[in-house]
Amino acid sequence: MFHPWIAQRTTTFDSSGIRKVFDLAAQMKDPINLSIGQPDFDVPEAVRQACIDAIQSRKNSYALTQGVPVLREKLQRQVDAEFGHADRKVFVASGTSGGLVLVMLSLVNPGDEVIVFDPFFVMYQPLVSLVGGVTVLIDTYPDFRIDLNRVADAITPRTKLILLNSPANPTGVTATTAEIEGLAKLAAEHKVALVSDEIYRAFCYDEPFLSPARFNDQAIVIDGFSKSHAMTGWRLGFVHGPAAVIDAMVKLQQYTFVCAPQPAQWAGAVAMDVDVSQYLDQYRRKRDMLYEGLQDVFELVKPGGAFYAFPKAPWGSGSEFVTEAIHNRLLIIPGGIFSQRDTHFRLSYAADDAVIERGIEVLRKLAQR
Ligand code: PMP
Repeated sequence: MFHPWIAQRTTTFDSSGIRKVFDLAAQMKDPINLSIGQPDFDVPEAVRQACIDAIQSRKNSYALTQGVPVLREKLQRQVDAEFGHADRKVFVASGTSGGLVLVMLSLVNPGDEVIVFDPFFVMYQPLVSLVGGVTVLIDTYPDFRIDLNRVADAITPRTKLILLNSPANPTGVTATTAEIEGLAKLAAEHKVALVSDEIYRAFCYDEPFLSPARFNDQAIVIDGFSKSHAMTGWRLGFVHGPAAVIDAMVKLQQYTFVCAPQPAQWAGAVAMDVDVSQYLDQYRRKRDMLYEGLQDVFELVKPGGAFYAFPKAPWGSGSEFVTEAIHNRLLIIPGGIFSQRDTHFRLSYAADDAVIERGIEVLRKLAQR
């Protein structure tokens, strides 16, 4: 809606597509809901208890901007053990989203170019616009693989950063070792920042997770507890990268988010020791169930991670197909929300087996229309 006070920057993007789906969901009775972007398990008991204990022991004030030492130092030890980079520093952010906002504010000057792979996570383009950057999209259809030659061609003197998300939202595709290593080296060679959104790192079903920071000691990693521990409402994330970049981000955090919620940070330190592998096994099985249920009638890349699949609409556009699915009480998200193309749709299998089965049934029926 128009109002004369509203700043120009808010008008450069729009969020009506996804809001429309969620408004519809709110009105639907007993939908078959395969649209949810968060785990369907609860925050582990030990983590919930740790948050309660933190609140009850009066850990309710502001935290240090960079994070409470119990969590920040534990994360630093984990990062040092994993990468062994002399200059890699960690801070605690208000969710992965908070980390993404701060990385854009800290690195992107107006007019700088940011390379993003299409399909992409919904937040990327708006964040680039907000800081006056220019998103340069690289189309990855139909297999969602990263073509390093196309990335090399897209790099210009204005390129500031490349944004990688593997395992990816919305496709569930995980980049191969060659893609990750190649991208990491390309970024280093061209002296552009490589920002890796690793929020789905706990959900890799076929190969162990691999970070581009293994091959590029300047890579900036954004991660968080939202998906790995189902803590989406707790707003807890972390970022690691070159100390100077982290210091700039912490400075901006001081004047924006201030800190991540303190009780959640104490609980995050406990979460780091909680084994979530049972969920990995459950989600792998759900992935297999969905893939097996659809692969013969849909053009569908087998997802290797996260909890999404991104099939092609068998007829019509992505939105037309999704509208028909919604008429059949199946709630899914049109691919156009995550892409310049409106040809696919996103399914989330972070749902009960019975819901996934009902979803498969409706989708198979719709495909044969
Ligand atoms: N990155 C990706 C790729 C995501 O899918 C999400 C959540 N849907 C986020 C970041 C944001 O997560 P957080 O809750 O940590 O802000």
